[in-house]
Amino acid sequence: MKLLDEILEFNNEFVEEKKYVEFATTKLPNKRMVVLTCMDTRLVELLPRALNVKNGDIKLVKNAGALVTHPFGSIMRSLLVAVYELQADEVLIIGHHDCGMSGMKPDGIMEHMRKRGKSEAALDTITYSGVDVREWLKGFDNVEESVAHSVSMVKKHPLMPNDVPVHGLVIHPSTGKLDLVVNGYED
Ligand SMILES: [Zn+2]
Repeated sequence: MKLLDEILEFNNEFVEEKKYVEFATTKLPNKRMVVLTCMDTRLVELLPRALNVKNGDIKLVKNAGALVTHPFGSIMRSLLVAVYELQADEVLIIGHHDCGMSGMKPDGIMEHMRKRGKSEAALDTITYSGVDVREWLKGFDNVEESVAHSVSMVKKHPLMPNDVPVHGLVIHPSTGKLDLVVNGYED
């Protein structure tokens, strides 16, 4: 059976048997915070457990690397919406050790794109349109520095209220241990 069919079949049963009942909650976060973290598979269940958060406790935003790279990109917009419209009073940015974005080489991804049929002309067109693809695909060298940089982007954002603490942490993807990088109460 194909993946999507498996999902739909399971979902039918899930709804029919009312397995959703235990997840009932509201759209406002009980713990009044928004968390930005990485899409890493190891964190899907581990991170909420390690932070003691359940359905309804937090707003959760994810991307590759837990990165805030653009002040007016969709990540920053999500954080602002969480703060202004959804009662998140604090922001947590949680990177992790052994992240796929750590030491990611743009040339490697671009080579994979070529192998999957993307032409040199396509890459050139993007470059000529003024997009620096290499810069866009770049990862980071040091997770603590990366988290601290994202914290500072959010903290200093002109539209972020000054009284919102922005914390930076790094989680271990096997043990769930959190290391503090930036304590947002101390700014
Ligand atoms: Zn990651």
